[in-house]
Amino acid sequence: MATIECARCHRYFEKVAFEAVCPRCFPIEEQEFARIKEYLSLHPGASTNEVMRDLNVDLKSIKRYLKEERLEIVGDNKGFIKCELCGKAINSGRFCDGCYKEGQALRHKEEGAVKSAYIKSAEHTTKGIRFRDNKDKKG
Ligand SMILES: [Zn+2]
Ligand SMILES: [Zn+2]
Repeated sequence: MATIECARCHRYFEKVAFEAVCPRCFPIEEQEFARIKEYLSLHPGASTNEVMRDLNVDLKSIKRYLKEERLEIVGDNKGFIKCELCGKAINSGRFCDGCYKEGQALRHKEEGAVKSAYIKSAEHTTKGIRFRDNKDKKG
């Protein structure tokens, strides 16, 4: 167990699993993500900018959802998020393909993640962001 800073409100709290936000922010975050899911199913191919503008979602939150692999960027990601090891632009998660193996080791330490529902949507989308289909996972 460790004390970490909440990614939303920046208060410190006791981390019990993989969560990035405190118990107070957790329901807010779940609600926000539900709104994003709904928005993306209504607007397949929406860009991150559109999501931020129409839902008033923080850029930081979107980046976090991408890193948590709850969302992924489709098509050109313009360096929106980068591999944590080599800095290469990636679409989802924390590591590029090349570093994925090394990343697995790091990732392993943080296991116990509460993965929320991955919804398959916007399959024909070639741009924007979408929910990540967990079955696509490499390796
Ligand atoms: Zn918080
Ligand atoms: Zn890399």
